[in-house]
Amino acid sequence: MNASVLVINCGSSSIKYALIEADPQAPRLGGIAERLGSADARLKGNDSNGESFTKPLPSADHTQALSAILTSLEGREPTAVGHRIVHGGEHFTQAALIDAHVISAIQATAALAPLHNPANLAGIAATQKVFPNLPQVAVFDTAFHQTLPPHAYRYALPEALYTDHGIRRYGFHGTSHAYVSQRAGELSSRGAGGWLTAHLGNGCSTSAVWHNQSLDTSMGLTPLEGLVMGTRSGDVDPGLHAHLHHQLGWSLDEIDNVLNKQSGLLGLSGLTNDMREIEQAAEQGHAGAALALDVFCYRIAKSLAGLSCALPQLDGVIFTGGIGENSPQVRRRVVSLLPHFGFALDEARNAALIRGKEGKLDSAHHTGPELWVIPTDEEGRIAMETRHCLEAHA
Ligand code: AMP
Repeated sequence: MNASVLVINCGSSSIKYALIEADPQAPRLGGIAERLGSADARLKGNDSNGESFTKPLPSADHTQALSAILTSLEGREPTAVGHRIVHGGEHFTQAALIDAHVISAIQATAALAPLHNPANLAGIAATQKVFPNLPQVAVFDTAFHQTLPPHAYRYALPEALYTDHGIRRYGFHGTSHAYVSQRAGELSSRGAGGWLTAHLGNGCSTSAVWHNQSLDTSMGLTPLEGLVMGTRSGDVDPGLHAHLHHQLGWSLDEIDNVLNKQSGLLGLSGLTNDMREIEQAAEQGHAGAALALDVFCYRIAKSLAGLSCALPQLDGVIFTGGIGENSPQVRRRVVSLLPHFGFALDEARNAALIRGKEGKLDSAHHTGPELWVIPTDEEGRIAMETRHCLEAHA
């Protein structure tokens, strides 16, 4: 199918968009409408020459922003819309053509993602107003991980919390893990074997993928579990909440805010959530930044080692996301913490694979498990899943 897919990622005050043609060589138009609802709402994007533009949209809501996005597409008309939806619960194991039933199923999972799913639904409603005749497809961050076996997705909690309330591990960043593991299978002579994927950006997660199926992942019920992230703590002792409440009198909202917004690289360094600044400050002798790097890399290595238990065979590790694609230092340090896996990182290749380059980090003639850098393409994957979903309904 040659659908030209408008990919929409709708937040409470922003809409990220990209127009993706079936021809992978065609230039992508894309950008973000941000600060929606405020006086300085604006649309920032790039045109087909790669030139960037900013257009003020004072007080625009989601519908007005989508109309402005439509106007910015230089007359190119999308033939379908693909929505990134954060949480599909257990209901969605793959992308779904949006109809009233799908919308109510997304509403039903909103309790599991109270910040994200309502914003995603607002995006669907606005898109239906602006593009009433286009088919719309929901692509879920959680769907790729619906192949986890029960021993990986269940918490050791009373069963009713799972059966009555859906408390289990779901995992996120599914489109990214799916894309890079499939791509590694295409690029590597090892094919679609056992890959550990490390998506390292502002949000970070790892995943164990066997023949294109996710068998385990580091995020859980929410995107807070697992690795250290920009401002998120990742794993902490589950007793921490009660301790902070009883000893410091913090409310649940305060604790949630600290764990989600004031922790991670920011909390450890006391400086910033931005890995570029952390690396610079650590080099200049900032102790907090050095510690943040140490904890960040150690926790990635520990997670990859743990997830390797899910795979019958390890074919390699894939780094992706803003940090995974651009930080030779993080990659080197993570690999050096996994000596027992028999990787062989070539330092010159590691230094060269930055800024969107795709390739292998291994030294020449290495035959053990591989190391890859594969720039993620969540938008491209959403467009592809949208096309497949429409083909299945044609
Ligand atoms: P993402 O959420 O995937 O856009 O990734 C954002 C993260 O990537 C931030 O922590 C950035 O500091 C980090 N990042 C981007 N470029 C670099 C770089 N050249 N070196 C280290 N980290 C980088």
